[in-house]
Amino acid sequence: MSVISSKSERAPRDKRAKKSRIKRINSTTTILWRNFTFFALGVIAVIALVCYGILGNAVMSQTKRRVRAVGEDMTKAINDVRVPMDVIEKKIYEYSLMDGADVFIFAADGELLIPSSGLTPERVEEVYDSVKANTGEWKEGKINEFSTRDGKKTVFNYAVCINLRGTEPCKMLVRFPVSHIAESVRQIELYVLLVALAAFIVAFFISYSLANRLSRPIMDISNTAQKLAAGNYDVQFNSAQYAEIAKLSDTLNYMKDEIKKSDDFRKELVANVSHDLKTPLTMIKAYASMIKEISGNDPEKRDKHLQVIIDESDRLTGLVNDILSTSKISAGLEEPNKKVFNLTELLYGVINKFNYLQETQGYSIMVDVEPNLYTLADEGQIYQVVYNLVSNAVNYTGADKTIYISLKYNAEEKRVKFAVRDTGKGIAEEELAHIWDRYYRSKDSHLRPVKGTGLGLNIVKVILQKHSFAFGVTSKEGEGSVFFVDFPLA
Ligand code: ADP
Repeated sequence: MSVISSKSERAPRDKRAKKSRIKRINSTTTILWRNFTFFALGVIAVIALVCYGILGNAVMSQTKRRVRAVGEDMTKAINDVRVPMDVIEKKIYEYSLMDGADVFIFAADGELLIPSSGLTPERVEEVYDSVKANTGEWKEGKINEFSTRDGKKTVFNYAVCINLRGTEPCKMLVRFPVSHIAESVRQIELYVLLVALAAFIVAFFISYSLANRLSRPIMDISNTAQKLAAGNYDVQFNSAQYAEIAKLSDTLNYMKDEIKKSDDFRKELVANVSHDLKTPLTMIKAYASMIKEISGNDPEKRDKHLQVIIDESDRLTGLVNDILSTSKISAGLEEPNKKVFNLTELLYGVINKFNYLQETQGYSIMVDVEPNLYTLADEGQIYQVVYNLVSNAVNYTGADKTIYISLKYNAEEKRVKFAVRDTGKGIAEEELAHIWDRYYRSKDSHLRPVKGTGLGLNIVKVILQKHSFAFGVTSKEGEGSVFFVDFPLA
């Protein structure tokens, strides 16, 4: 009682535990998708931040360098007495035009000497004052670099004292408004942000499709495995373009084939056992009961009944062996293990088994066999084939109790031809196609033969088909039958 109740209480808990365990396990697609997305996000964020942080500074310091270069170039030109003043003025004009850098040269008192025109006196004063406010004193030999605000605009300045061709010391100022550059940098930063966002959205979808593509073969395999688990052996694990998945598919296909073989074998065995084992067992039980109840004290009857039991036991043994062979072979568990062997010797081995019939029951086995004919096949299985055919000939031959066996090499066909002929009733035309079927017995054998199981020729057929050897029978009613097999010469 207690066991039952504890089990029934535990069941829902187990279910809940299992459910929560399953919930925590995410699908491959989700995991891959999530990881790819995080990775893409990280990479994009790093790139965006680097662009954001570095771009502005890089542009600004590049501009400062340019302003300094202009200032140094102008100083050099002015200090070089060989450069005429009109060339210097031209240079100033070019810098203003090409770089947007304004160059001013003031006299000591703040009067604008160069450029001589283009600026109002108020503007000149304004520029001069703004510079003065930032530099304090313009000392000779001292270079001042600083930023000023010109209205809303930022301006880079380069200020230095120079001597303008023998006159009293002058002051040179290079001005470079950078507001438009800062504006461009801001624009670029905005674009970087937008591109990063777009890249993230694209990465999000690409990650999904990539994760899906990677995990789909695994899902396919899982679905196929579920069908296989439900007992459908016709499924096929499809190969994918990934080596690992393809290998897994191959292994699973191999496993499936092996499971199918075992399952077929199991089904065959069950079917075969229930089909034919019951009869001899019933007979054995019936005769044993008869001995116990009726013939126990009658030696003659008892011996007869005991003989039936012995015969049925022999039959049972033969049957079990045949059933095992046929089931194994047709389920594919016993693939031919081919090697070269002496077929002539094998045939003599089989014939020797029937020697006792020649000695005790007057059978004659006429042999026409070439020595040392070799073939390539599964020796054990071929032994069974030859044994079954010879045994059938013995069982079904006519009153003369003679059978004819031949084994010869046919050079034209390049085949070793084996034939076994009997002189029995032969096989009716309409039956010829069926004798190879499992459990088939001709309608003439309505009397239950002691040795026949109806499996012998089926075993022959399955083995020879597995070897791809030609075989067959020719028979004429009233004249007997010839069973033949063509072996390759090795
Ligand atoms: P069995 O154990 O009954 O002999 P087989 O599979 O060996 O089973 O043969 C199937 C049937 O084919 C036999 O029942 C018999 O009717 C027929 N058969 C086989 N060999 C011969 C033969 N040599 N002559 C006549 N009939 C044969």
